[in-house]
Amino acid sequence: MRLFVALDLPSRVRTALADWADAAAPPVVRRVAPDNLHVTLAFLGSRDEDDALVVARLLSARARKLARLQTAGALWLPPRRPGVLTVALLADDGLSALQADLVAVLRSAIGFEPEARPFRPHITVGRVPRGTRIATRDALRAPAPALTFRAPAVTLFRSHTSAGGARYEPLARAVLP
Ligand code: ATP
Ligand code: MG
Repeated sequence: MRLFVALDLPSRVRTALADWADAAAPPVVRRVAPDNLHVTLAFLGSRDEDDALVVARLLSARARKLARLQTAGALWLPPRRPGVLTVALLADDGLSALQADLVAVLRSAIGFEPEARPFRPHITVGRVPRGTRIATRDALRAPAPALTFRAPAVTLFRSHTSAGGARYEPLARAVLP
């Protein structure tokens, strides 16, 4: 099963980001459904059910209180030839510490191999179709909304990918204090 661990977002934040993407992104960009918006903390890739159970069990012990998070503007990734439109989050020590702690515990629990590049928290709001090139300068019709919020939980998701877009199934959820 294809697994990832993500930070959940309050519904008002998901709605605001989805509304902004609807209004501001070039029509060719495929919108991510509001219910699917999240901040990926660790993409585990293809794993067996035992790994999923291990991760599900360790999640709640890692939950820690985070300060309020803030959006930090639109961000095309990768910048030169974007595959996704995202909204960045302002760097936050507590969030980075939570992500680093999760990575460390996943590494020892299921042999997770983390990405070498630094964690840059973001929310993917749209996907650029394969073969389409976006001229990012002037591509957006409005600036991304500035939002401040508390993240409610960290969730282990199973991703069911298909041509119509991925469906995410929550397998375990740790509410943040
Ligand atoms: P699709 O791949 O069908 O367009 P999706 O990207 O939403 O849909 P997944 O590929 O299962 O679904 O990804 C789940 C989450 O993990 C998303 O936030 C995605 O950006 C992230 N992700 C996927 N692949 C990687 C990867 N190789 N490294 C880091 N994060 C990844
Ligand atoms: Mg993907």
